[in-house]
Amino acid sequence: MSNLMEERVLSVRHWTDRLFSFTTTREAGFRFRNGEFTMAGIRVDGRPLLRAYSVASPNYEETLEFYSIKVPNGPLTSRLQHLKEGDTIIVGRKATGTLVIDNLRPGATLYLLATGTGLAPFLSIIRDPETYERFEKIVLVHGCRQVAELAYGESMVAALQDHEFLGDDVKAKLIYYPTVTREPFRHQGRISKLMDSGQLYSDIGLPPLDKSRDRVMLCGSTLMMGDLKSRLAELGFEEGNHGEAGDFVLEKSFAER
Ligand SMILES: Cc1cc2nc3c(=O)[nH]c(=O)nc-3n(C[C@H](O)[C@H](O)[C@H](O)COP(=O)(O)OP(=O)(O)OC[C@H]3O[C@@H](n4cnc5c(N)ncnc54)[C@H](O)[C@@H]3O)c2cc1C
Repeated sequence: MSNLMEERVLSVRHWTDRLFSFTTTREAGFRFRNGEFTMAGIRVDGRPLLRAYSVASPNYEETLEFYSIKVPNGPLTSRLQHLKEGDTIIVGRKATGTLVIDNLRPGATLYLLATGTGLAPFLSIIRDPETYERFEKIVLVHGCRQVAELAYGESMVAALQDHEFLGDDVKAKLIYYPTVTREPFRHQGRISKLMDSGQLYSDIGLPPLDKSRDRVMLCGSTLMMGDLKSRLAELGFEEGNHGEAGDFVLEKSFAER
């Protein structure tokens, strides 16, 4: 059996000139845990051109959903941004990654801290019923440069409020906190700065991060994760992985070249 699956594109939505999402068919045998990533891409001259992609959909859905950047000269995304309904996407059969709730110790509040397309794994996690069983509050913080870049997350959270099965839990437990760095908005500034100043906590009505109660997942640029990881370390948070659950876990949302 090939380690690559051929899936059909079902829909494509462009959120900005730099960001789009798409859904595809899902081979019934494809298994993943919410928050994991796999390889995805297209064939170019008959050869697979693949990159790591977080699965944005939850693992109980019959379709797959991905959220993608458009890098102007990026080998894959300069092509992928022209995807149309009916096109073929190649998806790796093996999903992996550290952003899974099993890698966290039990806690009361789960902070999901993302920048840019680092939001993608958290769109899977906030649609997992188990997330709401394990945590009393889930705080989704999404940092972008511009307001328009928040659109996918905003529309997902809005739709979840009316979700047939998850709606009540989402209304009671999910706190969505979008913030932008380069335009006026109701929340402004880098995630690390909003934590340092205490603004984040006063806005959401929760106490500052505490290892005895809070668990954290990070997904974003190297800069954002470096910033936040050092703050977590100062607070005594221990990193988790597949071998051992911890107080926080992280994953880069792209590789810097
Ligand atoms: C674990 C993991 C999960 C990932 N999940 C996603 C995902 O869900 N969605 C997604 O769009 N990308 C994701 N990426 C990045 C993705 O693998 C590719 O880098 C991206 O699709 C661009 O591919 P490319 O061939 O066009 O350009 P590349 O040659 O891969 O990248 C060129 C440059 O573009 C910049 N860049 C690449 N990806 C991003 C990004 N997502 N945001 C901001 N700048 C970027 C970087 O500076 C990079 O050096 C993930 C990467 C990793 C390591």
